[in-house]
Amino acid sequence: MNIDFLHDATAMTDQIVAWRRDLHQHPELAFQETRTASIVAQELQTLGLEVQSGVGQTGVVGILGGISDGPTVLLRFDMDALPITEENETEYVSKNKGVMHACGHDGHTAIGLAVAHLLNRYRGRLHGQVKLIFQPAEEIAQGAQAMIEDGVLDDPVPDVALGLHLWNAIPVGQVGITRGTMMAGADIFEITIQGKGGHGAAPHQTRDPLLAAAHVVNALQSVVSRNIDPLDSAVLSVTSLNAGTAFNVIPPAAHLKGTLRTYKHSVRTVAASRLVEIVEGISHALGCESKLDITPLTPPLVNDPEVTTLVSQAIAPYIEPNALLPDLRTMGAEDMAIFLDRIPGCFILVGSANDRRNLNYPHHHPRFDFDEAALPLGAAILASAVAAYVIPG
Ligand SMILES: [Zn+2]
Ligand SMILES: [Zn+2]
Repeated sequence: MNIDFLHDATAMTDQIVAWRRDLHQHPELAFQETRTASIVAQELQTLGLEVQSGVGQTGVVGILGGISDGPTVLLRFDMDALPITEENETEYVSKNKGVMHACGHDGHTAIGLAVAHLLNRYRGRLHGQVKLIFQPAEEIAQGAQAMIEDGVLDDPVPDVALGLHLWNAIPVGQVGITRGTMMAGADIFEITIQGKGGHGAAPHQTRDPLLAAAHVVNALQSVVSRNIDPLDSAVLSVTSLNAGTAFNVIPPAAHLKGTLRTYKHSVRTVAASRLVEIVEGISHALGCESKLDITPLTPPLVNDPEVTTLVSQAIAPYIEPNALLPDLRTMGAEDMAIFLDRIPGCFILVGSANDRRNLNYPHHHPRFDFDEAALPLGAAILASAVAAYVIPG
């Protein structure tokens, strides 16, 4: 007997939406997801899962065991919100001022609870086990690492890792499932240019770090346009530049920050070394000293080809033929990549925008919201992907 997870999930829609709206009203920042975690733990315990809290500070793990041995499937959901003041006027608007679920992680957590319910119904047919992990601190790219350091990938060791992100770049009903690299590896860089301050009317007595910073910003634009193979993908954005406060004072130092995004290790190496050469060379030429720190944030997110093929087949019945997008990629980053760096798996982008209802603001926008029809679909997709591994047809 084939299971119709979409039928089951659709019947649960009111409950899934209620979970999501409650979480949306009570958003919590990275590593502070205590209310969210206790709701998750309570719900999983009620279902009879083996539950562990406080994994990676505020993370929760639930294990759904089957009737016999078999593969262990890891399902990952993230729970954290962002330091953004919500500008929506819905009945479920954030009650926690200055904090907002502007990325859809409220939806991911609700989907996770729904998937636990959906799979629990078929426990008697489950060969293997499902390890549901509810992760903190995705937005600062520290939660996955924290859970791994607390042993989330040990005992049982997952054979495959699956996850999803609601995705407002595509309409509800469409689903992106891409073989190979799908999201970029991200680095943060921070630059200090040290000069010698002085009077704005006597620049010859100073070594102007602000001028050097301006040249550095310009020259960094040459890295992607002149050093990277045009057939490769890379982004280098300077996103912060601070120097000086007064109109008549040349400041002693300038501070810059930005991000580097790449799909390939070799491209990252070229971009990082050009970054070093440009910052050092220009600062030196203009009489300043420089300090540059490059901090790796996440590796590129790579979907295993075999897992992606199997999952694509499993979810195909729930998606219109032309709505399965095999080439959706972004230069955004995700710390799911840290799990997928260790365990073969697949990360799915579930369309959640609805232009007619104005539910199409981008992620991290103060008016971000999504079409909740994506919630049961997302739950059905993940449940059927898990079933492909642990519930024989
Ligand atoms: Zn986000
Ligand atoms: Zn996100």
